[in-house]
Amino acid sequence: MVRKPRRVVRAGDLALGGDAPVSVQSMTKTATSDVSGTVAQIRTLEAAGCELVRVGVPDMASARALGEIRSAIGIPLAADIHFDHRLALEAIAQGVDKLRLNPGNLEDPAKVRAVVEAAGEAGVPIRVGVNSGSLPHDVRQRHGADIRTADGAGQALVESALKHIVILEDLEFDAIVVSLKSFDVPSTIRAYEIMAEQRDYPLHVGITEAGVPPAASIRSAVGIGALLARGLGDTVRVSLTADPVEEVRVAIEILRSLNLRAGGVTFISCPTCARCHTDLRPVAVEVEERLRPLDDRLRREGRDLRVAVMGCEVNGPGEAREADVGIAAGPKTAALFVRGEVVRHVPPAEMADALIAEAERVAADL
Ligand code: SF4
Repeated sequence: MVRKPRRVVRAGDLALGGDAPVSVQSMTKTATSDVSGTVAQIRTLEAAGCELVRVGVPDMASARALGEIRSAIGIPLAADIHFDHRLALEAIAQGVDKLRLNPGNLEDPAKVRAVVEAAGEAGVPIRVGVNSGSLPHDVRQRHGADIRTADGAGQALVESALKHIVILEDLEFDAIVVSLKSFDVPSTIRAYEIMAEQRDYPLHVGITEAGVPPAASIRSAVGIGALLARGLGDTVRVSLTADPVEEVRVAIEILRSLNLRAGGVTFISCPTCARCHTDLRPVAVEVEERLRPLDDRLRREGRDLRVAVMGCEVNGPGEAREADVGIAAGPKTAALFVRGEVVRHVPPAEMADALIAEAERVAADL
């Protein structure tokens, strides 16, 4: 899997594009004018591994809150603004690290120029983001029935994005990030493929309005995963109707699945079958849940630990042995493995405790 080379754009101290790791971002679901509530949510996102956070800025009270929010968090802050250039100017003045703004929606060229000049002076990049649900009427009409095909929808998304991009380029502004999102996965993939041939700006990838987990997580993983596997994508947002921490967890798991992210606990458990004599599901669920703090810590430290929970002594030991720490349940006792060696046998009721204790111990020596 080779990542297509994109130019580098910086949002605060986070690089997007080039050789920079694919970053994880999310968006708050609080009122941005509620500073303490928004900061609290951003801190939980940060702890979960979010590397850039976006907040909606629907009014001036929200725009004026941005500086205080920015100074209370440790990751770059992006302001999401539509239509009102005064909100964009205030967001820049408040010190945001990135704007999500479609310049064509500001309509008045003088207002666009004021925002773009302020962003340029402050070193603030702009993400142009188009969604299939808000394609302009003229673009829809031009593509007619074709818009119902992946290629037609992809072309329409790119055409719409290029209108905004060209406005920025005409003002000699090139700190641009691009997103082209649809609920439809093939259309989204096609749009990014077409855009990647036309411009080299970093790509923010995601599936918009994906819905509620688990279906939304699967849809996002398929779409984002397919793009990343094609070498397309510099920053990822998973959009879920759920706690935004879940968005971050899903995004990180997508990156880990493609070996694009190191660090953290890789958790393996077997699906169970007729050979399993233990009620394995609650053990696996408990172990995964209780390993979350260790997962967060190892992820921050960039260290990896593989943990396996297996249901029998037929196939289980193989996986358990290959993990750093593993357990394979037998008819009466479970074999606990550390780095490929059985260290002891434990009763089924002690599987979770024994495995977690060994995982903590091994992680301390990594
Ligand atoms: Fe079945 Fe054992 Fe494989 Fe689990 S590890 S699915 S119990 S054969």
